[in-house]
Amino acid sequence: MGAGLRRHDDGVAALLAPVTQMADTELSAEIKSALARVEIPGGGDLASYAGLSEIIVTPGAIAFAIAVAPGMEAAFGPARDEAQKAAQAIGGARKVMVSVTAEKSNAPKFSHGKAVPPGKTRVDGVKRIIGVGSGKGGVGKSTTSVNIALALQAEGLKVGILDADLYGPSIPKLLGIEGKPAIREDGIFQPHEAYGLKAISIGSMLVPGQAVVWRGPMATSGLRQLLRETDWGDIDVLIIDLPPGTGDIHIALFQQTIVDGVVIVSTPQDVAWIDAQKAIDMLGKMSVPVVGVVENMSYFIAPDTGKRYDIFGTGGAERAAADLGIPFLGAIPLVMSIRENSDAGSPPVVAEPDGAEAEAYRLIARRLVATLA
Ligand code: ADP
Repeated sequence: MGAGLRRHDDGVAALLAPVTQMADTELSAEIKSALARVEIPGGGDLASYAGLSEIIVTPGAIAFAIAVAPGMEAAFGPARDEAQKAAQAIGGARKVMVSVTAEKSNAPKFSHGKAVPPGKTRVDGVKRIIGVGSGKGGVGKSTTSVNIALALQAEGLKVGILDADLYGPSIPKLLGIEGKPAIREDGIFQPHEAYGLKAISIGSMLVPGQAVVWRGPMATSGLRQLLRETDWGDIDVLIIDLPPGTGDIHIALFQQTIVDGVVIVSTPQDVAWIDAQKAIDMLGKMSVPVVGVVENMSYFIAPDTGKRYDIFGTGGAERAAADLGIPFLGAIPLVMSIRENSDAGSPPVVAEPDGAEAEAYRLIARRLVATLA
């Protein structure tokens, strides 16, 4: 286990506790009162400090974060330890995690300048990381992530997939994954195996209907755990299904981890492309290469006649990518079977490997490999 890895006694694993009722508001109020006795640097107490996150209490764990200004992490160490003790005294057998983070305050720094932030590292056992992003939700980013991952595998690569869409995780459903991931004795997650892919998602750790209520620092620390405290074994490519848009999770990921490239998924409508351009702009500012654009729901093939309809005016993303000098990786048609197979947890690339859709995804995967090489 690497020096930076912690045991699973914190944020993500809090969700793995046997869940009867997620939020224990009484206990979290009690902890908050106790934090009023914890002094913070510069005067004042932790309970009334604006950087204190929500206090999450589950039957097995207590977790909260303290967001501080960059460079103030060490100064907040004693307050963190005191807060930990106070929460432990109230929480009894629950595992307590209190993290100090400066990520949020760092964020604006990276929306300017093009310098590669120092301190980026690779992930143990992972040769290449490819993010799949989109300007807005609902364009088929997760569907594309899963099928590109499977198509890369069909090219002979060992592939993993991480669901970083913490607020709308859909990878478990798309891959037909059930149950929570196992945790090794040393606290490391054992990813699920689905169609040969190693997969991890916060979605597998939630009870149905439960929403992730973490704010910025908690969410980024949750993602870091999923990424760095999962036993990826030895894989060639890790596909990360990013949340739509540009936010804290993207910034934290790109700031801490070497991401070899991001694929942008867009639909042909102008409005989707405008959003996608914002994502591309952000990636440029953070020195993360955009390795290509995929146009999803590009055209419609009538199931009865086989006739092609360019319902949104196809080719918009291809032309726009060319204008920006970004490789165009391919177009995926709008086909009912993609939705039906995806909903049933059996992605088109494996459900209908001889179909035109599977071939379209494989073509994208081959171009992606060529671009990366
Ligand atoms: P996102 O990750 O961008 O929010 P999803 O991958 O969850 O989007 O896709 C949104 C919906 O669109 C899902 O119901 C999915 O099955 C469907 N979908 C995605 N791509 C296609 C496609 N090419 N043809 C038909 N349906 C699609």
